[in-house]
Amino acid sequence: MSSTATPLAPTATPAERRDELFDELAELTGQRNAIDGRIVDIIAEIDGDHLCYATGCRSISALVAWKTGIAPRNADTVVAIAHRVDEFPRCVAGLREGRLSLDQVGVIAEHAADGSDDHYADLAAVATVTQLRTAVKLEPRPDHAPKPEPPPPAFVKTDIPGEDHVTWKIRLPRADAATFEAAHQSHLDALITDWKRDRENNPRTGDQAPPMPTTIDAFMSLVEAGWDTDVARRPHGQRTTVVVHVDADKPAAALHLGPLLSDDERRELLCDATCEVWFQRHGQTIGAGRTTRTVSRRLRRVLEHRDRCCVVPGCGATRGLHAHHLVHWEDGGPTEPSNLVLLCPFHHRLHHRGGITLTGPAEHLVVTDADGRELTGASLARPPTTPPPDVPPCPGPLGERAQWWWYTPFEPPPTTDN
Ligand SMILES: [Zn+2]
Ligand SMILES: [Zn+2]
Repeated sequence: MSSTATPLAPTATPAERRDELFDELAELTGQRNAIDGRIVDIIAEIDGDHLCYATGCRSISALVAWKTGIAPRNADTVVAIAHRVDEFPRCVAGLREGRLSLDQVGVIAEHAADGSDDHYADLAAVATVTQLRTAVKLEPRPDHAPKPEPPPPAFVKTDIPGEDHVTWKIRLPRADAATFEAAHQSHLDALITDWKRDRENNPRTGDQAPPMPTTIDAFMSLVEAGWDTDVARRPHGQRTTVVVHVDADKPAAALHLGPLLSDDERRELLCDATCEVWFQRHGQTIGAGRTTRTVSRRLRRVLEHRDRCCVVPGCGATRGLHAHHLVHWEDGGPTEPSNLVLLCPFHHRLHHRGGITLTGPAEHLVVTDADGRELTGASLARPPTTPPPDVPPCPGPLGERAQWWWYTPFEPPPTTDN
C-alpha cells in the first residue's frame, strides 16, 4: 500500500514510469470504490432510519451533496444505489470490495429492472459505464397494456416569416372549452356594450367611428385582463397575495373567509410582506396594517444582493425566496436588513414549525438544527485518520469493443399470476 509513488531510478523508461503510475491508480481506484461502497451503506442507513429529517435538509440527495461536498448529480447516484442496496446485492458487493465503480453501479441502480442483479453483476465486471448504459437501454420495457395513441398536439403555432400574422390552433377538452367560451363571450359582450355606449354618447360617422369589436378584440381583452391580474398579484414576482385578519389584542389570525391559523402559520405568513393584513379589535376592523413589516422592493433588492440564496447552509435555493424577520415583527422586530434574511419556502416553513432555529443578527447568522447543532455550509471532508480500505487493486473495466449483436439484454422472468 503506497500513499506516495515510489520514485523510480532516473533511468526508468517512459513505459516503466507509466506502469508504475497505473499500478498506483489501480490501487487507489480499488480503495476509492470501497470507500464509495461504505458511503452508500451509510446513506442507506440514514435514509432507512429517517435520520436526515432533523438536519433541515430538503432531501437525502441534498444531504449527501452537502455533507460530502459532491455535485448534486453525483449525490443522486449515491442515493439511487442506497435505495436499491437490497435489490442488487452482488453489484453493491462489487462496489464494497473495490471491483466496481460508483458510476458503474449507479447506472444499474438508476435504470435496471428488478431481479437483474446477477445479469449486471457479471456484465459490470467487464463493461464500462457507457457500455452499461447501452445494455440497460436494451432492456425490453414493460408494455403490458397497448399504448394509447398519443393525443394530437393541443397547441400548434404557425408563424410563417414575412406574413403579418401568426396562427394558433388550440385544442381544449370540452369542459375547458366551455370555460373559455363563457369568458370570451363575456368579454365580447362587455366590449360591444362599451362600444354602443360610446356611439350613443358621441355619434361619429365615417372613418372616425371605431369599428365594432370583433372576437379577436374580445380574445385580447381576455388575455390582457388575465395578465393585469397576474402583475397586480405578484408585484415583487414572488408570493401570491394572502389576505389575513389579525386580532390586535391577542396573537390570533384567520385567513380571509377562512379558518383560524395556527401560531406557526400566522407567524410564517406575516413574516413576508406580500400578504394583506387587516387588524381588528373586538371584532371591529381598525385598519389595514401594511407599513412596518412591509419589505419594500428596494429592501428586497438589498437582501437579494447580500444573501443571494436561501441562508440555510447547504440549501442554495434562489427562487421564490421569502424575507424572514429574525425577531418577528409581532415581537417588535424591525423591518431592516440586519433583522431580515432570505429563506426558501421550504426552510421558512420548517423554521416556523420549529425544525431549525435562526439566530440573528443577519450579519452573524447562526442556524441550528432541531437538536441544537450548528449547521455550516462546509462538507464533512477532513484528512483521514484511519488507513484506507484493504481491498485489491481495481484495474477498471476491460474497455473491449462491445459486440452488441451477441449481447442478450436482461429479460425479466415471465410473471405467473394465476
Ligand atoms: Zn419567517
Ligand atoms: Zn432553503
